[in-house]
Amino acid sequence: MKKLLIIDRDGTIIVEPPDEQIDSLEKLSFIDGVLANLSQIDKDFDYELLMVTNQDGLGTDSFPEDNFWPAHNVMLDKLKERGIIFKEVLIDRSFEKDNAPTRKPRTGLMKPYIEGDYDLKNSFVIGDRLTDIEFAKNLGCCGIWIKDGPSEEERQAIDDKELGSVLVLTTTSWEHIYRFLAQSNS
Ligand SMILES: [Mg+2]
Repeated sequence: MKKLLIIDRDGTIIVEPPDEQIDSLEKLSFIDGVLANLSQIDKDFDYELLMVTNQDGLGTDSFPEDNFWPAHNVMLDKLKERGIIFKEVLIDRSFEKDNAPTRKPRTGLMKPYIEGDYDLKNSFVIGDRLTDIEFAKNLGCCGIWIKDGPSEEERQAIDDKELGSVLVLTTTSWEHIYRFLAQSNS
C-alpha cells in the first residue's frame, strides 16, 4: 500500500502573508529549508506527495483566478526544478462559513485516496494550522504541525479536539521533519 505526505500550501511550503492571499508573484516566497528538505524526503523515502489547500473564495471577486495561478504555477515550477512533483494539487475554494464538506479539516477532496489502496495510518499531514492536524485525525493519518510554541489556548484546543495522539511532531524546521521521517522509515 502506498503512503502519502499530504502537505498544506500557505504557511507550510510558501510564506503566508498577513492578508492570507498569495495573489501576486511579489508575495511568493518559500518557507526556509522546504525546497532542500522536501527534495531529500522525496528522494529518500517512498511517499506520494499531495498538496491540499483551502483558498477562500478563489474564482470570486474576492480572489480572482488571474491573481492566483501565476504565483501558484511559479511555485510548482520551482518545486519541480528540485525534483519535487506533486501527484495532485487539491484546492477547496469555499469560505469557512460555507462549511463545505471539501474544506479542511473535512475530507471530501480526499475521497479517492480514502477509498483507494493507501496506507493512511502511516501517512502524514503536514500543515501550519490546527485544522491541518484535525484533517490528519479525520483521515486517520499522523499530523506534523509547523508551529512555533503553541499558545495555551491552542494547547487546550488540542486536548478538546483529542488531537494529542495524532500530533506526532511540532516544529518550524523542515530539516527536523526530514529527520523525523527518516526515523519513522528506519
Ligand atoms: Mg496553511
